[in-house]
Amino acid sequence: MDKKEIIDKLLAGEMKLYQIDKYTENATEALEIRREFIEKYAGTNLEHMANYSLDMNTAMQKNIENPIGTVQIPIGVAGPLKINGEYANDEFFVPLATSEGALVASINRGCSAISNAGGVNARVIDDKMTRAPVLKCESVIQAVEVKKFFENNFDELKSIAESTTSHGKLLKIDPIIIVGNYVYPRFCYSTGDSMGMNMVTIATEKILEKLHEETGVLAIALSGNLCVDKKPAAINIVEGRGKTVVADILIPEEIVKSKLKTTAKAIEEVNIAKNLVGSAAAGSMAFNAHYANIIGAIFLATGQDAAHVVEGSLGITTAEDHDGDLYFSVNLPDLPVATIGGGTRLETASEGLSILGAKGTGNVNKFAEIVVSAVLAGELSLIGALAAGHLAKAHKELGR
Ligand code: NAP
Repeated sequence: MDKKEIIDKLLAGEMKLYQIDKYTENATEALEIRREFIEKYAGTNLEHMANYSLDMNTAMQKNIENPIGTVQIPIGVAGPLKINGEYANDEFFVPLATSEGALVASINRGCSAISNAGGVNARVIDDKMTRAPVLKCESVIQAVEVKKFFENNFDELKSIAESTTSHGKLLKIDPIIIVGNYVYPRFCYSTGDSMGMNMVTIATEKILEKLHEETGVLAIALSGNLCVDKKPAAINIVEGRGKTVVADILIPEEIVKSKLKTTAKAIEEVNIAKNLVGSAAAGSMAFNAHYANIIGAIFLATGQDAAHVVEGSLGITTAEDHDGDLYFSVNLPDLPVATIGGGTRLETASEGLSILGAKGTGNVNKFAEIVVSAVLAGELSLIGALAAGHLAKAHKELGR
């Protein structure tokens, strides 16, 4: 069948989009047919989506189905950002993909204040990816037996899980929550340089096969929403998920004045009134100004799973006036990140990670420290701008 015949069949509803791949082994050709069909179907022109340099043959193996092109988002850099981390110990230019005017400029201003003050301290304090299925028992009696099965056979279950991966390690099964006849065991793994969701799903599935063999108990769903993947949740804040990272800095009074055009006292008050009291009054789970802005832009620039921005948005900012100097900190309990696997394979993502010297093996903790440091830069700049009454002016000049 030639291209025109395939498009006609698609338009007539006689063929499904995925069936195009049967008629050509060339993913790029299939993509073009699919895009032309969509152009005709929607009566529109997709010339910019058609313009890309990614290797679609590779992308189609793990990253996308039914591709019709790519999306382009402007990418800018903020920096240099001086970081005194355990893994990231240098000055960095941070790649940020966004269409929100003023965001890069604002983070850049934070970087400048931080670097002038000697750098931000950053640490990874915990590291685990989680999967928590929901299991159906006959009664609470059987549910408690299942809980004991996990507790009493941990070593065997660990080796079963680890037989599926060379980098994933089962750390613990905790907590194991029972509600009526449902059991929710939260399996926690370290996952090397990958974010790990596929890895831990495959490993957990293997454990559930063993559970079924031994007890007859089946999973209702491989994720019982206690993981908690891609949703804001208190358990992720308390227990942590992905990387748990913290950062802080003491900024001398002269730099608060010259770079942020305000005072430590004003920043402290804005932080209390907005991030702490305002968030509490709203019943918010995120006691910060805009972690999601910085995390979203870095995630898009480096091929992270964009839906995890919802988890990365959680965390608490603190600010203290230390006799005119400013103590400022951010806390990110739930930051799922990778330097291997998932979207990091894509060419532009790999280039984004390369800007940071954080591509591939052995770099995920360095990358996590860079993310938390950039978050502190963005948070500092925005709170500083609010304290100085600068926010409206910046948006007027840079955004519209
Ligand atoms: P992945 O690309 O599926 O797996 C990572 C791969 O890299 C594994 O095959 C691993 O081998 C290998 N690897 C090589 N060197 C490694 C190193 N140094 N550290 C860690 N792994 C190394 O990625 P993933 O992180 O498990 O999953 C990420 C993907 O999951 C994303 O695309 C995301 O969108 C998707 N996702 C899935 C779910 C789900 O429920 N399944 C949910 C949310 C997101 P070994 O396994 O042999 O170690």
